[in-house]
Amino acid sequence: PGKESTPRRFCVVGSGPAGMYAADRLLAAFGEDARVDVVEKLPTPFGLVRSGVAPDHAGTKSVVNRFDGILRDPRVTYLGNVSFGEHVGLDDLFARYSATVLCYGAEGDKKLGVPGEDLPGSHSAREFVGWYNGDPRCVKDLDAPLRRALTCAEGDTVVIFGLGNVAVDCARMLLRSPEHLASTDVCQHALEALRRSTVRRVVMVGRRGVAQGAFSPKELRELLNLPGVRVTVDPRELKLEPEDEADLAAQRPRRRAYEAIVKSIESPPAGVEADLKAGGGRELVLKFLRSPTEFLPSDDGKNSVRAVELAVNRLEGAAGSRKAVPTGEKERLDRVSLVLRSVGYKGLPAKGVKEGFPFDHERGVVPNVAGRVMEKMGGYPTHVTGVYVAGWLKRGPTGIIGTNLHCAEETVESIAEDAANGRLRRPDYRFKGKGVRPLLESRGVRVVDAEGWGRIDAAERAAGEAAGKPREKFVSVDSMVRTALA
Ligand code: FAD
Repeated sequence: PGKESTPRRFCVVGSGPAGMYAADRLLAAFGEDARVDVVEKLPTPFGLVRSGVAPDHAGTKSVVNRFDGILRDPRVTYLGNVSFGEHVGLDDLFARYSATVLCYGAEGDKKLGVPGEDLPGSHSAREFVGWYNGDPRCVKDLDAPLRRALTCAEGDTVVIFGLGNVAVDCARMLLRSPEHLASTDVCQHALEALRRSTVRRVVMVGRRGVAQGAFSPKELRELLNLPGVRVTVDPRELKLEPEDEADLAAQRPRRRAYEAIVKSIESPPAGVEADLKAGGGRELVLKFLRSPTEFLPSDDGKNSVRAVELAVNRLEGAAGSRKAVPTGEKERLDRVSLVLRSVGYKGLPAKGVKEGFPFDHERGVVPNVAGRVMEKMGGYPTHVTGVYVAGWLKRGPTGIIGTNLHCAEETVESIAEDAANGRLRRPDYRFKGKGVRPLLESRGVRVVDAEGWGRIDAAERAAGEAAGKPREKFVSVDSMVRTALA
């Protein structure tokens, strides 16, 4: 990249995988001249690696060691507890950085669009995951209602809509023995609630058939093989039409997932029937070809969701594009204590970002070409100089951690190309080399830097060690900031 001013300062907004990989790639592309400020809303970094990935998947989380190394690079400044749109706006960044990469993820939920979906006891999987993983916002709002739902006297069934990996994580957390979770980094409040849980049955519901499921075979197998859990599927739903056979043949992971389901029904774990009869075992029900039509409230005056009405579907269309259409038949699930809607995260525009900043509300992404943020000028898409995007905010909420590496690479290639062509921003000379930290301090923002995060990290690890787990997370922003700034 051509030299314009040395060093060159960049801002990355969001410290999830996309933000950390973007920072890493910027350091690689601009070398010793690069300075990268990472602005993060929470005091703690690493986005969904901390607050999404399941506690019992510790291996996946080890990527934070790599991310920590990036944060500690002398060319990187971590600015935690700083919310883009609230504490700092685009104009502030434009004046101080050659380029800004937005990586603030997808913090909203797609909706099912059925009556009753906002009843108490109906939550998004995102909220449930945030609760057990210690996302301060989810813990604050959901702890009391989730504890009530998990020990509800009138219901022992959790219904999960969706069959993707997030739905599988939620089902596993609800069905797995809490003792198995005790040595993970699951938050104490969630572990206690799961220990007291009276949930006996988890029903996972998918709109289409067994041959169209979005399961990853490895994660599905882990769920199907949980000790003490019986798996139930209506055998009629396992019957394959020729188009389904073609769908399975076209995608090996789907065939492997299908075979895993059939196997788990044919050879249930020893002793599970006796456990179920004695009220000890738990059951996982997979229901295919069903769509929700209504969530129905309890009649005890509390108005919590207590039953779910489903439409039975059949499949139409050619292999590769099978569509679910309602047969007209209805079905009802009773004794429901909790509903989790796991039909997708959705990106949202950052609060307070200036009006007119491009956002595709339908897809929940910032419109872009190879990471360059695009706006319509006189009907033509034009790059908003100096603003880029990576991660779920760029592509939509799909893909694993590693997908964000390639995604960030593409974005940084665009930045390097624009730098070579003199198409980055020229920061205001008054702020040259300073970044946004002095402004934040003048605004009274309690910035948590890499040292502050180090103190939080050390305190969490120490608390975890005492409890025989890798870490015990702080679950309120206040306690994090107090520890960081002590
Ligand atoms: P995020 O990880 O969401 O990071 C966005 C960051 O931006 C967050 O730190 C957020 O606090 C911050 N932010 C938000 N708003 C602002 C703002 N206004 N100002 C400043 N900062 C802001 N992948 C795997 O490979 N393995 C798994 O086991 C796995 N499990 C998953 C489980 C769940 C429940 C989920 C939801 C995802 C899982 N994934 C997994 C996928 C993986 O987590 C994502 O691909 C990845 O986290 C997306 O990265 P991102 O940086 O775009 O978004």
